[in-house]
Amino acid sequence: MSVAATSPSVGSFYLRRRSPSAPMSMPRFRMAVRSAAVSVTPLLTKLHNDSATPLPLLRHVADAMAADMRAGLAVEGGSDLKMILSYVDSLPSGNEEGLFYALDLGGTNFRVLRVQLGGKQERVIATEFDQVSIPKELMFGTSEQLFDFIASGLAKFAQKEGNKFHLPTGTKREIGFTFSFPVKQTSIDSGILIKWTKGFSVSGTAGKDVVACLNEAMERQGLDMRVSALVNDAVGTLAGARYWDDDVMVAVILGTGTNACYVERADAIPKLQGQVSSSGRTIINTEWGAFSDGLPLTEFDRDMDAASINPGEQIFEKTISGMYLGEIVRRVLVKMAEADALFGESVPEKLSTPFALRTPDICAMQQDISDDLQDVGSILYNVAGVESNLSARKIVVDVCDTIVKRGGRLAGAGIVGILQKMEEDSKGLIFGKRTVVAMDGGLYANYPQYRRYLQEAVTELLGTEISKNVVIELTKDGSGIGAALLAAANSHFTLNFASTMIRFILLQNRQGKTRLAKYYVPLEDSEKHKVEYEVHRLVVNRDPKFTNFVEFRTHKVIYRRYAGLFFSLCVDITDNELAYLECIHLFVEILDHFFSNVCELDLVFNFHKVYLILDEFILAGELQETSKKAIIERMGELEKLE
Ligand code: ADP
Ligand code: MG
Repeated sequence: MSVAATSPSVGSFYLRRRSPSAPMSMPRFRMAVRSAAVSVTPLLTKLHNDSATPLPLLRHVADAMAADMRAGLAVEGGSDLKMILSYVDSLPSGNEEGLFYALDLGGTNFRVLRVQLGGKQERVIATEFDQVSIPKELMFGTSEQLFDFIASGLAKFAQKEGNKFHLPTGTKREIGFTFSFPVKQTSIDSGILIKWTKGFSVSGTAGKDVVACLNEAMERQGLDMRVSALVNDAVGTLAGARYWDDDVMVAVILGTGTNACYVERADAIPKLQGQVSSSGRTIINTEWGAFSDGLPLTEFDRDMDAASINPGEQIFEKTISGMYLGEIVRRVLVKMAEADALFGESVPEKLSTPFALRTPDICAMQQDISDDLQDVGSILYNVAGVESNLSARKIVVDVCDTIVKRGGRLAGAGIVGILQKMEEDSKGLIFGKRTVVAMDGGLYANYPQYRRYLQEAVTELLGTEISKNVVIELTKDGSGIGAALLAAANSHFTLNFASTMIRFILLQNRQGKTRLAKYYVPLEDSEKHKVEYEVHRLVVNRDPKFTNFVEFRTHKVIYRRYAGLFFSLCVDITDNELAYLECIHLFVEILDHFFSNVCELDLVFNFHKVYLILDEFILAGELQETSKKAIIERMGELEKLE
């Protein structure tokens, strides 16, 4: 019996059945519906119309996403998109070495991971991980309860560290902490929670540093580990994927919630206001879940939003992510059950329970390709408590497909929006060559129809030619390895310098421009940038009342300021500071002698000479000569040779 027949007020008509030879514009997506016609009720038609995502709408969404990104980069609070600075300026280089932990607090699961990194040659030597689902009550508990749960999970995991893992002596276990909620980062290892999302409502976290919360919980557990990097899950995914593939420029999470991040040029971030990024680039965490412009929303979305713990917020997330797709479908089915008696006279209580139908359920229903939709029937019975005939099952599958299609296509449009913005800023950067979008999250990983709809929207928007350059790829180990790599890259212990005395000498202006840099230890360019960035921040921000010696990682920096220029030397903790202060002063005196009243521009225009002078008294990291007279004489002789 068709649904319409049971409900005389509702007219019914049948979709024309596709003949096997007819061109199939969308053959694969209708798997479960193809075997026979669906009786289309006005409610279903309205749902189709309200949630339709034709190309012009997708285009609008992509354009609006790009525009919102710009607005969010211009000023703090400039758009729905927070465009958060990640403080990840250099991506993993491949040289990372040692034992590192990662801890991932998602929306559904909590994961712990350890990895032994072996540098360029060996890469990932060993990994182990464990996963626990987050008990519901902790989502509404106190901050202590949640973080104690995490720390105790970590403690248990850390106890089982086998002999494949080895911690270098003199170091502590370090953690990359992936925290998949909007956080205002204040440095690579600290950040304040902006708000809970994905149904969480934990008390006692407002305005608190989430790393401090975790550290305190670890202390309560007697766990001697430290967080070296606080990482958003999208950022971790980007870092992890980039470790294997240099073409990765964007990472997108489609799991319980959703988010995206990408590699941005520092000079394209007006709100950075001169703060230097060591590499000239930085990862921006868009927090795109908050996007809302031009989305095709239905009454069911509005009702779900109104009933949520964060009404009016995270609208994009509520339209496209795993936590919500099943719930939207459930709301549609309740309405159909009430208005059209889709499942008979009454509406079972189970079906009326919010979030009773989960996204994995609707996914499973869409995989049923049997003629009688047996699986659909049993899922409906088991999770929603409803008896269904074939006609009702077909409608259910159609509803699932409609909501998933909208979600996948809008996610695709969002991705194009990001790519478009990057391409507009640097022509050819994205579309002119292979570009990888790294994907992670249970929704994307497990829902084939969602994946296909997403890809289809990207191809429609970019055209077949350009979309060949855009590779959307599920990451192989998610954000965990990425977070561990970022912990390694920001390790407090591993500045593997050789045993020379002076590690490097830097001459920087107040704005952070490095005018001279001499390294006596082998460092990769990206690491040099990082060192320069960190040293600059360290010395510039230091109160002049303090000493001119400051700890830097496992070493110390001796610095001296001359007008707007900072001269910094990095030496061993045990080295004599005063000797090096004298050494800096000597260097400045010699410069002054040669350029009579040396200024910054002299150094810029005569850098070769400056390096020559430097080489006269420091060679291979050792002080060679401390007599000003001797150096000046020797320089004079060198000048004669020129
Ligand atoms: P998180 O890191 O937020 O905990 P995950 O990346 O582990 O999330 O993804 C979990 C989410 O993925 C679930 O909430 C669900 O929405 C979705 N999901 C998991 N399994 C499936 C599945 N088989 N089909 C569709 N969606 C799924
Ligand atoms: Mg996650």
